[in-house]
Formats: sequence, structure tokens, C-alpha cells
Amino acid sequence: MAPAQPFDKLLEIVGEANFHQDEGALTRFLEEPRGLYKKGAQCAVTPTSVKMVQKVMQFAYQNEIAVVPQSGNTGLVGGQVPATGKEIILSLSKLRQVREVDTSTNVMTLEAGITVLEAQKHAEEADRLFPLSLGSEGSCQIGGILSTNAGGTAVLAYGNSRDLCMGVEAVLADGRLYKGLSKLRKDNTGYDLKDLLVGAEGTLGIITAASMKMFPRPRAFETALLNIASPQVGVEVFEIVRKRAGNRLTSFELLPTIGMDLQLKHELITRDPRAKDAPTNWHILLELSLFEGDEDGALLGVLEELAEKELVADASLCNSLGDRQLMWLMRENYAECQNREAQSIKHDISVAIRDIPTLMDEVDAAAERIVPGIRPIAFGHMGDGNIHYDFLAPEGFEGDFKAFAPEIHKATYEILAKLNGSISAEHGIGQMKADLLAQKKDPTALDMMKSIKLALDPKNILNPGKILRS
Ligand SMILES: Cc1cc2nc3c(=O)[nH]c(=O)nc-3n(C[C@H](O)[C@H](O)[C@H](O)COP(=O)(O)OP(=O)(O)OC[C@H]3O[C@@H](n4cnc5c(N)ncnc54)[C@H](O)[C@@H]3O)c2cc1C
Repeated sequence: MAPAQPFDKLLEIVGEANFHQDEGALTRFLEEPRGLYKKGAQCAVTPTSVKMVQKVMQFAYQNEIAVVPQSGNTGLVGGQVPATGKEIILSLSKLRQVREVDTSTNVMTLEAGITVLEAQKHAEEADRLFPLSLGSEGSCQIGGILSTNAGGTAVLAYGNSRDLCMGVEAVLADGRLYKGLSKLRKDNTGYDLKDLLVGAEGTLGIITAASMKMFPRPRAFETALLNIASPQVGVEVFEIVRKRAGNRLTSFELLPTIGMDLQLKHELITRDPRAKDAPTNWHILLELSLFEGDEDGALLGVLEELAEKELVADASLCNSLGDRQLMWLMRENYAECQNREAQSIKHDISVAIRDIPTLMDEVDAAAERIVPGIRPIAFGHMGDGNIHYDFLAPEGFEGDFKAFAPEIHKATYEILAKLNGSISAEHGIGQMKADLLAQKKDPTALDMMKSIKLALDPKNILNPGKILRS
């Protein structure tokens, strides 16, 4: 079917193979992981070069057509799918060149459509580490992880995507190219434009390539699952381990027992990873990275100190690669086991680490008052202060559990505000939290953000309806 005006021009720019307008062809661009946003799109385009991306943006700018940038389509807040259905989707997934792997500067320059897993492999081939690691790494892409400033399981040691990025190349709203692929560790020449584009969720420009940091590869990992009495003990354990291990402490994940029980119940894991005598409801999944020159057994020393101080009830140490894989599989399954069990209500929030126990005491109590028997499943990157604070419907609950979401969100975000926490630690704002951001963000900060948006996107064609409400 011939596309309607003015899309014949767009078809001409990208070519038939990269123009998708039929309902069937559009589905993969429109379905997002949580199935919450279901608007259509005028069409999707998959340009194969940066020049082509520029031409698409020139076309959109001239015709004032809104553009939704998309990479791996794994975002969890509806940022990568249309808000109205009148947009075109601009997928960067065909920009797949590795432009350079520079082992003297430890930087690789990758185009936006390369997945995180592929980036890890490219670094590995050069005997280096690309440390970003997250559950969606087989699908999410460089453009997407930078635009959401993704975190993951190694933020403690290496930082989030923003920290891993030295520079970006981006196409602006009017089609101009920002050539910011820096490899410089020192460059004090005014505003940091890279840091504006990173975390902007496609509202300020289209990232087409980025220079990403690499690190020495650890020669070994030491991993253990610690059984602890409470999140408060978790904070104490964190302080001790961090002091002893410094940046070798790569991951420190808080895991409530309920998640492991559900995974065994729903056969997501076949072997219980816990130590036999784990008497309490809380665990920490802890991982140290060892480098050339580090002696084996660093973790044992840490565990001895924790045992002497009576902070750990029991521990299960990984003795093989298989053990370690099981631990990380179990960690990644914390979202899926909820999907299999019951309806859930979710939050992705952060506070200072020492405030986590207060947050958890108060939020659990508030939720229990709203829905007696509610099942909290608060887990995640404790070492970053980032908790995925989820709630499952009570056992045997019948009815619409999600109807309680507004009340539970309100209570949670009020407690969070008291603790100066963030309403979005990892997943961003997208469509899901745009109203919440308008309520919770400091008005001066919001004004500054709106001024920047207006300066870089005067026609409001870059991912409108995401992050900022106009
Ligand atoms: C199973 C699972 C586990 C996850 N675990 C984590 C986790 O541990 N930590 C975490 O932080 N996130 C996690 N996420 C969320 C998600 O994977 C990340 O937000 C990821 O960074 C999105 O990358 P993507 O390539 O899929 O981007 P998309 O989903 O395609 O896009 C995300 C946002 O970026 C914009 N965008 C995409 N590409 C570009 C570009 N080239 N230029 C400008 N804007 C662009 C989109 O418009 C959208 O607003 C998880 C998701 C899933 C499904």
C-alpha cells in the first residue's frame, strides 16, 4: 500500500526495507515489556546510517511531526512508545558499527544499536571489561541505556551508564549533528552537553554513537549469599565490606526470602541457593571482583569478620561457575516470580543507604494498613540505595489489586519525600512518572529543565509527553 502524504518523502529517505507502516510490521515497535501503553504510530523507520537519521529529523522538523526514538524497546516506563499515536518511531537498532576499540585510552566507540551484551563481548575480545550488566542486556542497546542512564548490578564499583560514557554523537531536532565523541578525561570547555543528552530519554536529541569506558578484566569473582537478620544489619554489613574491599565490592543486593520461595514454587529455579540453616527472612547477594595481584580468599576474610561480629546468621559461598550462575539467575528472577504469582504494584526508588531500614519499616506498615495481608517484596541494589519496592496481592486475594495502587503510591512517595529520596532510581520517567515528576520535583529544577527542552527542541517534536508535561 502506498503511504499517504507526506510519508512518501520519508519512504524515499529511508527506503522500503526501512519503512514500516502495516499493522503487523509495527507490532514489534509498539509492544513494550509491561504492556501498559497501547497507542499506535504513523509508521516506524529503521535508518541504516547517521546521515539517514539526520534526514529523517530534517523531515520531521519541517513537517512538525513528533518522533519517538527507540533502541531495544526494553524500557519500563513507556518512554520508547508513542504517547498519542500521531508520532513516528525512529529505531536506532540498525546503527551497529563498532567504530573503534582503543585499548590505550580504554574507550570503545559504539553506534547506538549495539546491545549491551555485544558491547561486553567487544570489550572482552580486547581483554577488557565493559561493566554494565542488567537483566535486559541481551536486548537493550547503547542508545537506550544512555538515554535512560541505566544502572544494573555493578554500579557500586563502576557507576551507572552516565559514568561509563565519555562522549556522545547525537542528531538534534532540526537534523544537525552534535559531534561529541570525546575520549578526553579532562575537558573543561563549558557546559557538559553529554550529560544533558544522557538520561534525557530522547527528549533533547537522538544519540547515534557513544564513546564508552572499558576497565581491566577481573581474573576471578567471589560470590556469596548471606543470611542476615534485617535490612538494618544489611546496612552494617555494607559498611564493613565496603571498608575492607573498596572498589572490589562490585555488587551488594538485598533479597527477601519470599522471592526465593516463589521461584522454587513456580520452578524458576530448581535448587534452593540458600544455606541450609538460613533462619531469617533477609539475604544479601554479595560479589567481589579480584584482579591481577589480588589473593584468593578475600571474601572468606570478610565473612570471618562478619561472623565474629555476629552480623551474619549463615552464608552460602559459590564454589563453582554453576553456583555463581544460579545466584545471578535467582537475582534476575525477582521480577518474573511476581508475574507468575499474583498482581503486583511496583516502585523503583532510592534513598541514602542508611535510610533504607526506616523506608522499609514505614512503607511496609503503611501498605499493611491499606491492604491487610499485602506481601511486600522489596529487593535490589541496596549498595546503591536503590530498592525495587514491589507489593504482591495477599494470598487468595480476589479482585482488582491494582485499584489500591494510587493509595499505596501516595503513601510510599510521601515517606520517600520525608527521606529526600528519588521517585525514579533506574528506570526513568517516560510516560509513567511524568505527572509524578511535575508534583515532586523542585519547581526551579523543573523550570530549568523546561528552558533546556525549549532551547533544544523548540517545536516539541522530540519524544513529546515524556519526562515533562507541557
Ligand atoms: C528484564 C529487564 C531488566 C531490567 N533491568 C534493569 C536494570 O537493572 N537497571 C536499569 O537501569 N534498567 C533496567 N531495565 C530497564 C531497561 O532495560 C533500561 O531502561 C534500558 O536502558 C533501556 O534500553 P533500550 O535500548 O531498551 O531503550 P528503549 O526501551 O528503546 O528506550 C528507552 C528510552 O530511551 C529513549 N531512547 C532510546 N534510544 C535512544 C537514542 N538512540 N537516542 C535518544 N533516545 C533514545 C527512548 O525514547 C526511551 O525514552 C530492565 C528492563 C527489563 C525488561
